[in-house]
Amino acid sequence: MPDYEAPLSDIRFALEHLVDLAGLSKRPGFEHADPDTVFGLLDEFGRFVGEVLAPLDRIGDTVGSKFDPDTHEVTTPPGWPDAYRKYVDAGWGSVSFPAEHGGGGFPWLVTIAMQEMLTASNMAWSLCPLLTQGAIDMLLHHGSEEQQETYLRRMVSAEWTGTMNLTEPQAGSDVGALTTRATPTDDGTWRISGQKIFITYGEQDMTDNIVHLVLARTPDAPPGTRGISCFIVPKFLVNDDGSLGAHNGVTCIGIEHKMGIHASPTCTLEYDDAVGYLIGGEPNEGMRQMFTMMNTARLSVGLSGLAVGELAYQQALDYAGERHQGRAVGAAAGVSSPIIEHADVRRMLLTMRSTVEAMRGLVYANAEAIDLARHGDDEGARTAASELGDLLTPVTKAWCTDMGTEIASLAVQIHGGMGFIEETGIAQRYRDIRIAAIYEGTNGIQAMDLVGRKLPMRAGGVVSDFLDRLAAAGAELTTGCDEYVAAVDALRDTTTQLLTNAAADPNNALAAATPYLRMFGIVAGGWVMARQAIAAQRLAVDDPQREPKLTTARFYLEQLLPQVHGLRAAATAGSAALFALSPDQLRSTR
Ligand SMILES: Cc1cc2nc3c(=O)[nH]c(=O)nc-3n(C[C@H](O)[C@H](O)[C@H](O)COP(=O)(O)OP(=O)(O)OC[C@H]3O[C@@H](n4cnc5c(N)ncnc54)[C@H](O)[C@@H]3O)c2cc1C
Repeated sequence: MPDYEAPLSDIRFALEHLVDLAGLSKRPGFEHADPDTVFGLLDEFGRFVGEVLAPLDRIGDTVGSKFDPDTHEVTTPPGWPDAYRKYVDAGWGSVSFPAEHGGGGFPWLVTIAMQEMLTASNMAWSLCPLLTQGAIDMLLHHGSEEQQETYLRRMVSAEWTGTMNLTEPQAGSDVGALTTRATPTDDGTWRISGQKIFITYGEQDMTDNIVHLVLARTPDAPPGTRGISCFIVPKFLVNDDGSLGAHNGVTCIGIEHKMGIHASPTCTLEYDDAVGYLIGGEPNEGMRQMFTMMNTARLSVGLSGLAVGELAYQQALDYAGERHQGRAVGAAAGVSSPIIEHADVRRMLLTMRSTVEAMRGLVYANAEAIDLARHGDDEGARTAASELGDLLTPVTKAWCTDMGTEIASLAVQIHGGMGFIEETGIAQRYRDIRIAAIYEGTNGIQAMDLVGRKLPMRAGGVVSDFLDRLAAAGAELTTGCDEYVAAVDALRDTTTQLLTNAAADPNNALAAATPYLRMFGIVAGGWVMARQAIAAQRLAVDDPQREPKLTTARFYLEQLLPQVHGLRAAATAGSAALFALSPDQLRSTR
């Protein structure tokens, strides 16, 4: 099985031509993040993940994490803790966090490029630092000075990990249904009791401490999401001098047996009068606080579609070069051809590669918007970037994870029967990525967020600005221009019609949400590929990037983008057909 090779030249192309890393590095605070420094750092990180994490990916899948019901401890696969120590020692976890907390102060865009390589090399391992980054983000925005002092430095250094505890058996997508209780005490701390399920890296053997961020309800809290508060609940209490104290009242009582990411322990955690610290000092602020870190967390999950898609492409490409079957058109008689010479295999490979490139451009544009929302020139620029980030996030999360799953499926297909056999390793890509469409808000919930919350932003002004930006990007396009213009027009018309339908009956918008998000994602991918084609056209004729980038852009614009017209009917049909049958009639096939 081939190892992962970080696609450094493609990442560099995206950072130079599809987003403006050079422009970002001229902004106050980012001067040290000049492109040469960033590319040097990415080179080094690519080597690290290739040498340390990629070789553990297979053993992670076959051995998995183990739970001991007597000690309630979790043992990660062989090599996991050692790799984690190397990650901490090299300081990789801290690159984009503020210098005052021990971070490197790089743009989020750089972290995202690193995360692409981290996730591709070993998705199950990567989830531990990714969850920690989400928890850091939360504490950076909402933690008190004392809370930041106690926890942040050791989380930024990755010495301690973080978890996010939302889900309970009766509260999945409906977070507002959670019942974990928080009771105040005289000393200002709280006691947390309840059960959380599916907590990623809720228990592990890689660090001395784990900082759980736990959603719970205080007494007299209003019902639903308005009555949720967020607490810091460390596995080990932290003494005033920073040393570790007693084990807190949180116990892992089991881990799940999953379809994929076997090495990532998905834990059931029992909180029994555990000491908790209210984040920000005010109760009932938990959902608002969660929302501030939602964009970065959802972007990281969307990115996993890109990362696993890239790895699946690399593996399928290698296999297609090695496997000989049949005689390709024009090949010499009596010799079988490598399957890469067959048109249908080429079609699958081009679909994979061009979609991966479109996803990379979209994910990086989303990260750039997050940076500009924090570091833009003035209030107007920051607001515009923040709106763009808000609009793109559900699309990036849902479209990229759906595409990642489809690409992994194509990679299995290219392997033929061996794709279904575990020893080639390609089945793991499919099993691992399948979860990404489910966690961090299912893709159905993302679609509802897009049509229900994001399209109405600024009375439709935000989506309208984005559509204008898409239209403008086509001006210099020579390849696939007609297809691009038609697709952007179709998205604009569908958006208008959907908003009209929604005004008549909100269920119309909810019924349309998923096909509409798919349309949006495909067209946003087209926007990336239009700019890729224009940038590639400007490269020197002998530049090795020129031909491949032009070809994948052309393939995407001419052959994948027109799919949007087929989705239009579903995105504008309304909900009548979906509810025409009663649940009993739906069961009538049995
Ligand atoms: C491997 C793994 C790791 C996880 N890690 C974490 C973690 O670290 N922390 C954490 O808190 N949670 C975690 N989760 C939980 C995850 O976020 C939830 O599984 C997810 O939010 C979906 O909730 P659910 O499973 O209850 O599905 P449900 O909410 O029951 O959804 C079932 C189906 O119904 C749909 N649906 C639900 N409500 C609506 C609605 N109103 N309108 C339309 N459709 C709807 C959904 O889209 C879905 O298709 C993890 C889960 C897994 C499997």
